[in-house]
Amino acid sequence: MPLIVTLDGPAGAGKSTLARHLAQQLGWTYLDTGAMYRAVTWAAMDRGVDIGDATALGALARSLRLALLPGPDGARVEADGRDITEAIRSAAVTGRVSAVAAVAEVRDAMVAEQRRIGEAADLVAEGRDMGTVVFPDAPLKVYVTASPGVRAERRAAELARAGRMVDVRALEQELVARDALDSGREVAPLRPASDARHLLTDGEDVQTLLGKLLGWVGEIR
Ligand code: C5P
Repeated sequence: MPLIVTLDGPAGAGKSTLARHLAQQLGWTYLDTGAMYRAVTWAAMDRGVDIGDATALGALARSLRLALLPGPDGARVEADGRDITEAIRSAAVTGRVSAVAAVAEVRDAMVAEQRRIGEAADLVAEGRDMGTVVFPDAPLKVYVTASPGVRAERRAAELARAGRMVDVRALEQELVARDALDSGREVAPLRPASDARHLLTDGEDVQTLLGKLLGWVGEIR
């Protein structure tokens, strides 16, 4: 049975950085499930599928050939053979992804794929419902949080490195709005698993946090 570590939490809490580094250090597969919901959102926009049409979105999610391939900065994402790694990070996709991810048919398709990946390899799985829904039996579940201000600063720095300048206050509002949608939805809302360990990342550096995570992994191995 492959080992699975889950990292859930709101946007910008530091999950991706930690999950990526942790997977690298352990030599395990890194699964970025947010990228999967972003890819479905991108495909819906690309093909003119109505974001309000749950049936059409479900059909799209089931038919889309998604590939998450190892890349220099996390996973490279392909949809039907097209590299959309950068495109799925656009403001347009970010603004619509929570609505798409709230559709049960879309989640069913993504969860099936995520579990299939989890059967094949040791995994560090990052998302919103990894510990609560997708891998409820994972031996280590972590809920990663940070205050909204810190999360917005981090996201702004990330975007600045990619050459995009944004207003930090506006970004904070967008993050808080996205959290509200992700936490308030009916299907698989964002919340910590009852047996999750909590990791607050405010003011902590990556190496310290990684050390803590590696210590927890040591306990379950
Ligand atoms: O992690 P990231 O910010 O890329 O996720 C984008 C969006 O995808 C989230 O805001 C959420 O709506 C959705 N998501 C989800 N379940 C997951 C991962 C992401 O609903 N497991």
